[in-house]
Amino acid sequence: MKIMSINAGSSSLKFSLFDMDTENVLVSGLFERIGIEGSCYTIKNSEFKIKQDAELNNHSDAVKILLDKLIELKIINSLEELDGIGHRIVHGGDKYTDSVVVSDQVVEDIIRFSDYAPLHNPAHAVCIKAFREVLPNTPMTVVFDTAFHQTIAKDRYLYAVPYEWYEKHHVRKYGAHGTSHRYIAKKLAEELGRDDLKIICCHLGNGSSISAIKDGKCVDTSMGFTPLAGVVMGTRSGDIDVSLVPYVMEKEGKSVGEIMDCLNKKSGFLGISELSSDSRDIENAVKEGNEQAALAQKMFVNSVVKYISQYYVELGGCDVIAFTAGIGENSAATRLEIIEELACLGIKLDVEANNVRGEVRCLSSSDSTSMVYLVPTNEELMIAMDTLALIK
Ligand code: AMP
Repeated sequence: MKIMSINAGSSSLKFSLFDMDTENVLVSGLFERIGIEGSCYTIKNSEFKIKQDAELNNHSDAVKILLDKLIELKIINSLEELDGIGHRIVHGGDKYTDSVVVSDQVVEDIIRFSDYAPLHNPAHAVCIKAFREVLPNTPMTVVFDTAFHQTIAKDRYLYAVPYEWYEKHHVRKYGAHGTSHRYIAKKLAEELGRDDLKIICCHLGNGSSISAIKDGKCVDTSMGFTPLAGVVMGTRSGDIDVSLVPYVMEKEGKSVGEIMDCLNKKSGFLGISELSSDSRDIENAVKEGNEQAALAQKMFVNSVVKYISQYYVELGGCDVIAFTAGIGENSAATRLEIIEELACLGIKLDVEANNVRGEVRCLSSSDSTSMVYLVPTNEELMIAMDTLALIK
């Protein structure tokens, strides 16, 4: 069976087409700058890579080119060969606890939840409509990034603010990266042959979040009402005292919007190092003796360690600490720095085993009290797997 995963942004559309018998990617690609001057697309697999300028006035243009190209490149012979399409959706509010088949009601809900994800949800809805126009009979599903976190208990998802904010305006923790955390929990359960694991999953990339997972269900997560909360990130501040918002607004003569922009786009690694949001640049600058880069790295590690220790207690111990995403999968040095801070819990890395990237591997030493694992994430495959399960 052939299933396509779609991840639409406000001006982009990423896709991967899977052969679900092997779970291999047949072809993948990206349509960029949709509705902006200079739009183009890339389509590739192990045998070819095409990069082409194209007029992409809207998502419908991208969908039409994508489907034409799949046939032209002989990836499929006809559109009937597409057995299902799964759309990644950033926000499902507190309604969606699982992936579902697309219906008019689902599209309406996605638009309704745009308040929580103003850049993403409207684009998802537009993209689903574009696919439904061209492929009215192809089964389609939506996979919500917030769904996995809906098992978090009320005493952990609420903020200690007036209760009516929750009742009237749904102010609560929603979390993000749920599809990735769920994939890692599933992979670890398969790898270790156990579904009763206590897992602390560290998704460390440009955006980072940490989840506490018990028996495959999410117990807590570090992102909050929006992805701004939690650990220090590439350009996001992570947790702060909100009182600094009005204080800096007054001192700098800035609007709420400008301060929020700073907290989302000019903070984190970038804000502290004044150098880069990219952890590779930070690591290189630390080696060259850059003190602000070293400070940014230490603050990042501190914040990750803080959440791991909190979740260790929330879970009543931990079987596995898992690392995933760009930094988690690639930076042996950062993993080592984090785990060294957990020595008082008896958690230890095998330094040789830790010298790896891009594969599922146990990184902890044999006498470590918890296992440490590297598990590369694959949100696209998770979306395709959900789609296959739903359309079957
Ligand atoms: P993601 O958001 O998952 O794509 O992750 C992006 C982050 O991963 C960036 O901060 C990158 O610097 C980081 N990253 C990617 N590759 C490496 C690497 N080889 N070593 C260290 N960090 C990496």
